[in-house]
Amino acid sequence: MYVYSFEEGNTKLRNLLGGKGADLAEMVSLGLPVPPGITITTEACNYYSAHLEYPNGLEEEILSKVRLVEAKTGKGFGSTENPLLVSVRSGAPISMPGMMDTVLNLGLNDTTVQGLIRQTQDERFAYDAYRRFIQMFGKVVLGVEGNAFEEILTKYKASLNVKTDAELDSRSLLTIVRDFKELVKQNTGKAFPEAPIDQLMKAVAAVFRSWNGRRAIVYRQANKIPDSLGTAVNIQTMVFGNKGPDSATGVCFTRNPSTGEPTFFGEYLTNAQGEDVVAGIRTPKPIAELQDEMPEAYRQLRGVCKLLEEHFKDMQDIEFTIEKGRLFLLQTRSGKRTATATLRVVVDLVKEGRITREEALMRVQPSHLEQLVHRQIDPAYETRPIATGLPASPGAATGRVIFDTDEAHRLGAEGQNVILVREETTPEDIHGMIAARGVLTSRGGMTSHAAVVARGMGKPAVVGCEQIKIDPTAETFSTRKSTVKKNDVITIDGTTGNVLLGEVPTVEPKLSGAAQELLGWADDVRRLGVRANADTPEGAETARQFGAGGIGLCRTERMFNAQDRLPIVQEMILSATDSERAAALAKLRPLQKDDFKEIFRRMHDLPVTIRLLDLPLHEFLPKYDELIEEVSSLKATGASSSLLDSKERMLKKVITLAEHNPMLGHRGCRLAISHPEIYEMQVGAIFEAASELLKEGVYVHVEIMLPLVGEANEIRFLRERVVETATKVMENMGSKVEYRVGTMIEVPRAALTAEEIATYADFFSFGTNDLTQATFAFSRDDAEAKFLKDYIDHRILPSDPFEVLDQKGVGKLMRLAVEAGRQGNPQLRVGICGEHGGEPSSVEFCHRLRLDYVSCSPYRVPVARLVAAQSAAREKTVKQQENQ
Ligand code: PEP
Ligand code: MG
Repeated sequence: MYVYSFEEGNTKLRNLLGGKGADLAEMVSLGLPVPPGITITTEACNYYSAHLEYPNGLEEEILSKVRLVEAKTGKGFGSTENPLLVSVRSGAPISMPGMMDTVLNLGLNDTTVQGLIRQTQDERFAYDAYRRFIQMFGKVVLGVEGNAFEEILTKYKASLNVKTDAELDSRSLLTIVRDFKELVKQNTGKAFPEAPIDQLMKAVAAVFRSWNGRRAIVYRQANKIPDSLGTAVNIQTMVFGNKGPDSATGVCFTRNPSTGEPTFFGEYLTNAQGEDVVAGIRTPKPIAELQDEMPEAYRQLRGVCKLLEEHFKDMQDIEFTIEKGRLFLLQTRSGKRTATATLRVVVDLVKEGRITREEALMRVQPSHLEQLVHRQIDPAYETRPIATGLPASPGAATGRVIFDTDEAHRLGAEGQNVILVREETTPEDIHGMIAARGVLTSRGGMTSHAAVVARGMGKPAVVGCEQIKIDPTAETFSTRKSTVKKNDVITIDGTTGNVLLGEVPTVEPKLSGAAQELLGWADDVRRLGVRANADTPEGAETARQFGAGGIGLCRTERMFNAQDRLPIVQEMILSATDSERAAALAKLRPLQKDDFKEIFRRMHDLPVTIRLLDLPLHEFLPKYDELIEEVSSLKATGASSSLLDSKERMLKKVITLAEHNPMLGHRGCRLAISHPEIYEMQVGAIFEAASELLKEGVYVHVEIMLPLVGEANEIRFLRERVVETATKVMENMGSKVEYRVGTMIEVPRAALTAEEIATYADFFSFGTNDLTQATFAFSRDDAEAKFLKDYIDHRILPSDPFEVLDQKGVGKLMRLAVEAGRQGNPQLRVGICGEHGGEPSSVEFCHRLRLDYVSCSPYRVPVARLVAAQSAAREKTVKQQENQ
């Protein structure tokens, strides 16, 4: 069966009937006022896409189901007395708002329009419906350039000296109908199809074709929607919101889609047809005004919203039409919303007893939390907006003003920051919106295309900013205060609706109350610990705020790079004798101690893993080429000999330290084996810091981590020295600091010999950046820029292995190391601190490997907490199913 009446479907048939068809059917089964209609399945679409013709029997099926609609409505398709008019709309299993084509008022022709006049006693209305139909059908189905219709309309308006379409009378509309038909004939070489059935079959095919239209394909790629789904087509009896002042059309949300607040939200237009609201052509009125204008319909609509939300257990986005005071529902779907709203809604739904905490956790996507940590404009900054529009999608975005969608697309692809500025956006602007940092429009409401799409993308947007006047030819926009030219930099604030000149300071984001609450539930569910990678007190602070359970990686070489340290580090490297080196290290020790103290203090009560120095020494010295140049220019200018001497000494050292493969070179624990005094200094500083804090009553839990170990004897040798130094400091200071010593597992040989290594380690932490590099033999500094993109384009690899953990190869080594490591030391704790520790699919893999924790950048901590909980919940469900 390729065709279903609305009565025959339900939400379980989403893949077959599409989201819109399935939900319309569900509304019918709830007894709600839905205009009768039918749905053609996605299977029919897929057949059409493959063969470019309808499957056998489809036309007959459509016809027989249309007969049922006729019976239900008492109208006839092609009837000159009471003609049935229908809308033909796409409806994919995953909502793709505005991406495919729609035709309204189908069924009109020169004779049925007379029937419509008789029915409505309204000639003007009937001819207006007819010209809209020809216009839409001409553009969508017959491929006539849309502007050509607009030109005819504009010509008539000018000759009659009127401004809007609404002012055109029935006589001129009739002439326009004739002109439109003539236009179609000229463009297609054929007369406009008069037979309603013929119109219908052509329209259905056009909707099928629009599944493979450019904008639909771009949207699917951006949203990772499979091409194989196909779209269903809904054919539904038309109802009219443009039948006078007691008719209206609108869109409403059962909660605020921007903030998630449980307030009724929406917009409508009186005396207008459906597409007018979505297209943002007229700026609509807030739904609250409907209460005064049509109280009965408003009351009924509120009731419907409540019922639908309760039924679907989610915030709904509802399209409605009021025809002469009578409410009709044209669509309901789970409402698109911002990340902020997503969290607020699920947390509220839990509190209202509609869904469980676990359901709430599963409904939030990692990307929602990623969006929440968007930067916001610094509240302390005194903003001077040049204009304010509607705050359609939160967050701040800065970029060059670009008016042309294709140009925005091109510049965005080059990595430039662009703000796309349009009077309004249409689905044809989608590629420009994807490429832009933010979107600004001068027309349209909170449910306009620009608003809905930007929210879905998590992209800042200010819409309906009527204070800006765009001149597309001059490529400028002006406000009362200023004129902004193409390429000028502006900032838009989608949280407040402000438009600002230039770049403005932004601040780190904070998690909302709802997000914190949800993540609290996540913490109750998850097994996997979540720590952060941080090497500054500020980083530690952020990590704590985002709920990290400790620091899993503090890279001490980052501390060496600070401006006041570098000259001392260089002094240490250049020192000719042991005593010179000891003197330089003695200078570094108190500085390092203060660094550690500050981080320990911020992380009190939580473990802090400090990784001892891991960089080749030459990286702390100036580059060879720069030094050569400096030395020769010093020679040329006859500079003081002491300066020249020191530069020459440095150059000599750079030459001595240079390596062919620094990443495989004298770094990490290898350097410490050659120069044990460096780690001795670091360990001394760590234990002094911890001892001093303990005396202040600050509890410190230290974990010392050794980098680049690939052989058990390396860790054995270094561990002995760490313990020796630590013991000495603690004895001197009369303290007892709790500590562990462990190693990174970032060299394949470490994974292969993990059992033996584990006998010297209290913990392992997978350094998957280096482990990926070494396993693939891909340079982590070059591969991405040089060739990984080609690998992904040609599907040699599914994704960038430095971003998404390669479970097949690197993951196999990890599994081996976890199992062998726990054999060697049953108390062994295992974590990960490479970049993968915050990437959702990799976090889930770490959960399955039964790691103890993941450690990631502080901003990814919320995502890791969520994914860890989702992984645990999923595991529980699988176990339950297995036990049944
Ligand atoms: C790693 O190699 O994964 C790691 C965390 O260490 P770094 O990135 O500092 O080499
Ligand atoms: Mg590493």
